[in-house]
Amino acid sequence: MTHVFHRNPRAEQPVVARGDGPYIYDKAGKQYLDASGGAAVSCLGHSNKFVADAMKEQIDKISFAHSGFFTNQPMEDLADFLVARAPGNLDHVYFVSGGSEAVEAALKLARQYFLEKGENSRTRFISRRQSYHGNTIGALAAGGNQWRREPYAPLLMPVPLISPCYEYREKRNDETSGEFGQRVAGELETALIDAGPENVCAFICEPVVGATMGAVPAVEGYFKRIREICDQYGILFIADEVMCGMGRTGSLFAVEQEGVAPDILVTAKGLGAGYQAIGAMLVSNEILRTIVDGSGFFQHGHTYMGHPVSCAAALAVQNYIEDNDLLSNVRRRGEQLHDALTARLGNNPFVGDIRGRGLFRGIELVADRMTREPLDPSLKIHAKIKSAAMEAGLMCYPMGGTIDGRRGDHILLAPPFIIDETHIAEIVEKLGSTV
Ligand code: PMP
Repeated sequence: MTHVFHRNPRAEQPVVARGDGPYIYDKAGKQYLDASGGAAVSCLGHSNKFVADAMKEQIDKISFAHSGFFTNQPMEDLADFLVARAPGNLDHVYFVSGGSEAVEAALKLARQYFLEKGENSRTRFISRRQSYHGNTIGALAAGGNQWRREPYAPLLMPVPLISPCYEYREKRNDETSGEFGQRVAGELETALIDAGPENVCAFICEPVVGATMGAVPAVEGYFKRIREICDQYGILFIADEVMCGMGRTGSLFAVEQEGVAPDILVTAKGLGAGYQAIGAMLVSNEILRTIVDGSGFFQHGHTYMGHPVSCAAALAVQNYIEDNDLLSNVRRRGEQLHDALTARLGNNPFVGDIRGRGLFRGIELVADRMTREPLDPSLKIHAKIKSAAMEAGLMCYPMGGTIDGRRGDHILLAPPFIIDETHIAEIVEKLGSTV
């Protein structure tokens, strides 16, 4: 009998023993190819010696010194690294322990920013349907994931939800991708007018939707229009790159590919690549200055923020990725993975759409690929695929509720950036025999 309060107490899970590159081994010695990167976390795979050495070196110096007393060198260096590569004028970094904490920080900062400016009524957020921004109650309220929200309703704040820019299901036949992007971006303007622009502080969304929809990028031009609307109505644009950021889509930050810069960007998962729990919020100088010149203090913080070992691990991860030019591998292998998935599954009657960017790929499963009719949700196909794939020695990330929180199934793939062609063949072969 286990005394651990597992999230799903009825699920039987193997005990993990060790990892090596893109593989994980359980206690019984069974090998699993980690094609989900956990949940888009393990960018470097497992047991990377360069990262382990950097962490040990830091532990030997100092492992914890509260941020209320000290700054620390790895935190300063990691901030320098991120700012030197960040889009737009994001030039300060606030460190936390994970994605939900980073989102909470962003939501509170957006509100405090307007408070400092004397725009006290700007307290509301707008986000998108089928988005996920974390499980803490503020981040949950900001997201549009129905099945996660419902058990905890009423949530702390009402958040109007607009289209997730879901081309496969929402584009009309009589419009081009460009027209579709402009139309759904326009929903932000409508939502703003409905809420009263003077009551809204920020729009938050994932540049490429991850867990809830399966690697869905927006169409070209969508984010340019979103940025224009945010500027026109004076609201902040928060990009949640917790899952799609840190190189996962082939550029360090996913918004780079959209040609826009957010006012606040949050990231986590791939930042520490699973070697340590760490998240970060990047903010523009304008926001920081407003706080500094106002009350002088961001009224938010956590015990483990800027943890020296977490920052040392993340810095080593990011240096390793850059020094080994792994983002080129992400782009090249990403295309290969997409082509191999299309060759193997493109004609499968249950595969509707194969999409994504870099090593962030999604496969949408349907009951009928001609009509795009969703699978019967009670069949829980995604859960069956997950266990069949584990049986076959493959970790992938299937999820239900793609379309509206209830209907629709997809599989998300987010393998480590170090994979080669043989790993791609193994992923496609194992997945192909499972779907
Ligand atoms: N935002 C996004 C886009 C995410 O995918 C996640 C986690 N799946 C979170 C926030 C929350 O991150 P965490 O689980 O580290 O709290």
